[in-house]
Amino acid sequence: MNFNNHISAFSISALLLISLFSCNLTDEKQQENKPLNIIYIMADDHAYQAVSAYGSEVSKLAPTPNIDRIAQQGARMDAVYCTNSICGPSRASILTGKFSHINGFYKNVDGGDFNGEQLTFPKVFQKNGYETAVIGKWHLGTTPTGFDYSKVLINWGGQGTYFKPQFCINGTDTVTETKRHSTKTIEDDCLDWLANKRDTTKPFLLLYQFKAPHRDWRPDSMYHDLFSDFDFPLPETFNDDYEGRLAASENMMEIGRHLNRRDMKQTPPSGLSRRDSMRWLAYGDKGQYWSPNDTLKGDALKYWKFQTYIKDYLRCVAGIDRAVGSVLDYLEENGLSENTIVVYTSDQGFYLGEHGWFDKRWMYEESFKMPFLIKHPRIIEAGTKTDAMVMNVDFAPTLIDMAGIEIPTEMQGKSFKGVFEGDEKNQRQSVYYHYYEWPIWHKVQPHYGIKTNRYKLMHFYYSMDEWELYDLETDPNEMNNIYSEAPEELIENLKHELHELRKKYRDDGSIEEIRRMTDTVIRRVYNEPNKLMK
Ligand code: CA
Repeated sequence: MNFNNHISAFSISALLLISLFSCNLTDEKQQENKPLNIIYIMADDHAYQAVSAYGSEVSKLAPTPNIDRIAQQGARMDAVYCTNSICGPSRASILTGKFSHINGFYKNVDGGDFNGEQLTFPKVFQKNGYETAVIGKWHLGTTPTGFDYSKVLINWGGQGTYFKPQFCINGTDTVTETKRHSTKTIEDDCLDWLANKRDTTKPFLLLYQFKAPHRDWRPDSMYHDLFSDFDFPLPETFNDDYEGRLAASENMMEIGRHLNRRDMKQTPPSGLSRRDSMRWLAYGDKGQYWSPNDTLKGDALKYWKFQTYIKDYLRCVAGIDRAVGSVLDYLEENGLSENTIVVYTSDQGFYLGEHGWFDKRWMYEESFKMPFLIKHPRIIEAGTKTDAMVMNVDFAPTLIDMAGIEIPTEMQGKSFKGVFEGDEKNQRQSVYYHYYEWPIWHKVQPHYGIKTNRYKLMHFYYSMDEWELYDLETDPNEMNNIYSEAPEELIENLKHELHELRKKYRDDGSIEEIRRMTDTVIRRVYNEPNKLMK
């Protein structure tokens, strides 16, 4: 090779390098300017204790490696709370960015249907050029609005079933899935929508929502053998006697006394009518301390019910973990990962034996707190952990804010985007709660309350007048109600702050008025699929 050749070879390589470099710069620039897609994943009743990113003992034995990928690549949020810990109301608050009494959907039972004419965050995205879809559990009665595509569970009162789930597509066509488990069906439908159904010229917002792991915890057969060779440890408060907590002592959601035969996957005797068979399966709901055989009694019976319950629950969670993994894989394999915000959460928390319970509804930590993992390729550093206080009414304004769209002023929630941008001053100092449903299911007394960084104050007001106060620093399990012994000044300050929140959110009606909300029966006009087909 002569000198000239050297020069030309050098020039060509340099030119190539320069052009490659500028190409990368242009690509990066384009990537940065591209609108962000959003996948909002929500399970039903998935306790943070059962997400291994949160590190609980239970989750170490039943890890969720795929869900954890979102936390590893983004953030784990440790203080995210719902305003009303029950399925429909939490979903309505998430969609509207408003508290239950404002969006109107404050009870599951006799609480009517969601008013789909009001403003929701999917509508905001749709109006701003996004392709929008919801696939899976909806549970709000009325047909989803604000979506270019919807395929939602409608049987079993909108809960959907694990097997033979029925879906309604775009508010018109009813289909029954006969082969696949509900989680697998929803997973396949989402992948199909991402790959084949959406308009790829637009950014997208996808709500990917599971029925699992809601009661009655029926896992896919591929997970039946999972956890069969060991038992789960009992939580510290498993044998709580509810001393000092009158409302809790009247509950009907104890593992020992209120799990029914259906929950425990018992088979009714043959020859019973359908009605008698349903009754037989529901036996246990009213506190009957039933046993599957004559020898299993007392603590051993409670232990058996707990193991049966938690194993099926966690088998349902394993299905969700797989389904989350396949969508994350799809994003990575199709170059969408760097341009898509992914959220994983649940409509509320859940008891996995803490206080001896299953179910939710209380403002106690396990059901009040929601798991919340979020990956945002542009502003959230991988492996972030934050204890900034956030509420579910904040999800809508935050996602809108993260997409660079103006937040509608009527939303009561507050964007927490600033948490990831070093804006610590502008964060919530406290969160507000209000639960209304009574007495079914589970006889949880209506209550409202406030949580600050350290304390939680609750007022149970419906058929009693009881206050509870917890110091979460010294008593994180909320076993010791210190209301009667705490300094007056502390109680006064908390009551003042609670009053201010109630005023701010326009939930400051008198006790008589809020009791009346519980008593008000609003009939559901919701369409069951068999009615639709008639
Ligand atoms: Ca739920």
